[in-house]
Amino acid sequence: MSEPHDVAICGFGPVGATLAGLLGRNGVRVLVVERDPEVYQLPRAVHFDHEVMRIFQTLGIAESVLPLTRATPRAQFWGADGQILVEVPWDADTNQAWRSDYMFHQPSLERVLRDTAEGMPSVGARIGSELLGFRDAGDRVELEIRDRTGGTAFASARYLVGCDGANSFVRRKAGLELEDLIFDEPWVVVDVLGAKGLPEAAVQVCDPARPTTLVPGALGFNRFEFMLRPDERDEDMARPETLRELMAPWVDVDDVEIVRAAVYRFHALLARQWSVGRVLLAGDAAHQTPPFLGQGMCAGIRDAMNLAWKLQRVVERRSPPAILASYGSERGPHVRTFIQRAIDAGRIICTQDPDVARGRDEAMLAARERGGAQAVETGLPPLGDGLFQATEAGEHPVVRRLAPQPRVASASGEARLDDVIGTGPRLMLAVEPDAELGGRLERANVVGYAWSSEEGQAWFARHGLQAILVRPDHVVFGVARSAREVPALLADFEAALTA
Ligand SMILES: Cc1cc2nc3c(=O)[nH]c(=O)nc-3n(C[C@H](O)[C@H](O)[C@H](O)COP(=O)(O)OP(=O)(O)OC[C@H]3O[C@@H](n4cnc5c(N)ncnc54)[C@H](O)[C@@H]3O)c2cc1C
Repeated sequence: MSEPHDVAICGFGPVGATLAGLLGRNGVRVLVVERDPEVYQLPRAVHFDHEVMRIFQTLGIAESVLPLTRATPRAQFWGADGQILVEVPWDADTNQAWRSDYMFHQPSLERVLRDTAEGMPSVGARIGSELLGFRDAGDRVELEIRDRTGGTAFASARYLVGCDGANSFVRRKAGLELEDLIFDEPWVVVDVLGAKGLPEAAVQVCDPARPTTLVPGALGFNRFEFMLRPDERDEDMARPETLRELMAPWVDVDDVEIVRAAVYRFHALLARQWSVGRVLLAGDAAHQTPPFLGQGMCAGIRDAMNLAWKLQRVVERRSPPAILASYGSERGPHVRTFIQRAIDAGRIICTQDPDVARGRDEAMLAARERGGAQAVETGLPPLGDGLFQATEAGEHPVVRRLAPQPRVASASGEARLDDVIGTGPRLMLAVEPDAELGGRLERANVVGYAWSSEEGQAWFARHGLQAILVRPDHVVFGVARSAREVPALLADFEAALTA
């Protein structure tokens, strides 16, 4: 058997391609096995958020992705009579140097992701090949692959990551189970070109007579989703004449070209365990969410970002394999929060009883008038337990969350900080490090950056901090409240990665 790869990835969808790219850019030897000869041509995801855009920036593809996106000013939930029950800005400023949300065209994004990964010298992709079997041999995983000619090939890798989607073969074969968070609703999803006069917002129409989603997609696409009633059959509902009837209240159906329609059952599922031995799961293989908040693929891309730097350290023998346990323990609670929010949103949207819907609308409107919290929570939750500074004084609220990415002055005018100082471990400080600290940072392989602009000073003062230590996935590992605490912070980081 040939020299093992560092990491084998089953599945070259958006998650597998992101993981391959993040590993490949740092020289990790990756083998990708993908069954389908071409990118899946039907868009499923239509929305991603600012954290995902920062990950694309890390991959060096943000500028190629931007033309595939479009801004949508807001997302709304409408009641049975069209009243606005919930309104969330979807093109807002964030502290990540990107807009809060983007609508995009999934097949085009996947093409960019695949081309990027395949262009990396350490990434080899076997397209049109299917993973048929694998065996964890203790020090590596042995793979059996059906290649594009129908022949059987063998390969091995130190780790196997199943990015093979909802029906994941890797998950089933590894015996990893999904927990059912209980949601099961049938919807027909329709993508069209040429629609005119639709709301500029992304709208959840919570009409009990026909719960409907209207999404302005990118590249001229519009997405409609219609919930099916219990007496409606999938095959009837995906017929062009039925779809035209469903769309008629919203558009002149003679204007639109139906590009595709499919009935989906929206589920809420989460892996009880994200890995066993040398086999790990990422993306839809590990979790599935109802799509009401547009977060399924986002969660998978975050998985890839969380896993990539840890896998790299392990295969380079800079950290013990034990750090990989933090992957599932950090990602699991984060994904669970998003799935639960999507279920809660789904319960609002999917109400088909008119009396219940009336009561819902009255209660939500009253809460909105009182200026109470919106029924739909947005904002990124913190990660679960894992590689973070353990402190007796209690954890600071910025830990486990994304570090800000300021825009900074650069030779070409203005740049995003990650592009200037890189994406390795970073210490962001309120003041310039002195020579002694500079030496410590160098020995610890941590880049120091004094965010000493007015904006930076204000940020550190607001949080009562002098410095934050940022992991390669842009998440805050720990903080220093005074300059005196910085050496201990660096030591804690080193200890967490090598223990
Ligand atoms: C209607 C709908 C709307 C959605 N909207 C959004 C949204 O707005 N925002 C969002 O973030 N998410 C959204 N999602 C979710 C999003 O589409 C998925 O989370 C995402 O596509 C999953 O990516 P993945 O890479 O994990 O899996 P997939 O895209 O399913 O890729 C898996 C790959 O693995 C390959 N494969 C499988 N088995 C094997 C094997 N044995 N050997 C080799 N290859 C194999 C497959 O061919 C495939 O290419 C939506 C989903 C739906 C259905």
